[in-house]
Amino acid sequence: MFDSLSERLGGVFDRLKGRGALTEADVRTAMREVRIALLEADVALPVARSFVDSVTEKAVGQQVLRSITPGQQVVKIVNDALIEMLGPDTAELELDVTPPAVVMMVGLQGSGKTTTTAKLAKLLKKQGKKVMMASLDVNRPNAQEQLAILGTQIEGATLPIVAGQQPVDIARRALQAAKLQGFDVLMLDTAGRLHVDQQLMDEMKAVADISKPQEILLVVDSLTGQDAVNVAQSFGEQVPLTGVVLTRMDGDARGGAALSMRAVTGKPIKFAGVGEKLDAIEPFHPQRVAGRILGMGDVVSLVEKAAQAIEAEDAEKMAARLAKGQFDMNDLRSQLGQMRRMGGIGALAGMIPGMKKAQQAMANGAVDERILLRMDAMITSMTPKERTKPELINAKRKIRIAKGSGTTVQDVNKLLKMHQEMSTAMKRIKKMGGLKGMLGMLG
Ligand code: GDP
Repeated sequence: MFDSLSERLGGVFDRLKGRGALTEADVRTAMREVRIALLEADVALPVARSFVDSVTEKAVGQQVLRSITPGQQVVKIVNDALIEMLGPDTAELELDVTPPAVVMMVGLQGSGKTTTTAKLAKLLKKQGKKVMMASLDVNRPNAQEQLAILGTQIEGATLPIVAGQQPVDIARRALQAAKLQGFDVLMLDTAGRLHVDQQLMDEMKAVADISKPQEILLVVDSLTGQDAVNVAQSFGEQVPLTGVVLTRMDGDARGGAALSMRAVTGKPIKFAGVGEKLDAIEPFHPQRVAGRILGMGDVVSLVEKAAQAIEAEDAEKMAARLAKGQFDMNDLRSQLGQMRRMGGIGALAGMIPGMKKAQQAMANGAVDERILLRMDAMITSMTPKERTKPELINAKRKIRIAKGSGTTVQDVNKLLKMHQEMSTAMKRIKKMGGLKGMLGMLG
């Protein structure tokens, strides 16, 4: 996700941070590069322009230029502006009504609408909600059967299919069934469209009139870039969308749709689809995404992911250590082990501060297991004391560790730097008091 943008911006900021003092011209040059990077990421032109203008205005102020760390300050300003552009807050589903709350799913054919319906149903089920799904798609052959199959896979309820029934009638029947059977949430998967077409739009409005949805979520494919944003705009003109789900974010290295969606349509991105499996969906957290784009890592998501894979006992120990803001080489190693168990670091690399760079430098872009194993080998070559107190590792010790693990001193330095960054991030999380939610998940 956002790989190429992240790389480009990383280069710009490394140059900025590398300098002690900055002039206004330095900042303006950097911002021109940021603008090009955004446009290459397929961000809508007016969005890129206003983003860069607003950042530049703040960044060329004397307070920034005269500060001790002007480069870092500029990065912080960009970070804040990115969060603003993406969100600015995490948008939750609003389902607090007399049940059943209705969630209507709309979108073009092939956008991932039916899959997303099942993913969301699964997510809501996990949160303890009783969910029923119903397909109103009578156009595409087997669409209703597809949803029924997905329903079986997530062990969720679907409305029994009645051949020949029309969408509005299905919606009415679904609503009644959900009410009678005490469902908390009813998810309506409407018919897809090949393009924005009036007849189907009218059908969608009729369904919305009958079912009075709390949420109307538009599903769009992030890989279609600016088209996704245009589609959202057209749908938004016809029905009161409450949010957007961006699918295929797992394959989207550019991220233009995600970056422009909010600014162009005014609609929040509520979820991101990140794979074909039925649990490959994530709430869209602007802060975390901005952190990932700027290569600052997304420690919170990482810890949450790890928590799901961790054994309960480990989790408790880890939670206790994190609560104290501790994070030593043993913790790092257990994180690496979990990552291996979770199936590689592809998805996780961007979440760890410094990991991306270490990854690139160590294997020239060739990802995977091998890097994790090398890191593990380096930690194995440390003495127990070094593991708990990495600050003991001086030049001589580095040479020993590199020899012992078949790596280089540079590699050891990178590992130490990564550990340092993670440790700082953990302390920061502790300070922000943001650990509570994480502890909940860990415990
Ligand atoms: P619909 O026509 O909009 O209902 O689309 P489907 O739900 O049938 O999805 C079309 C294809 O996209 C299926 O093969 C899905 O597995 C795939 N898909 C859906 N969401 C995602 C996602 O977030 N990532 C990836 N990689 N594939 C997805």
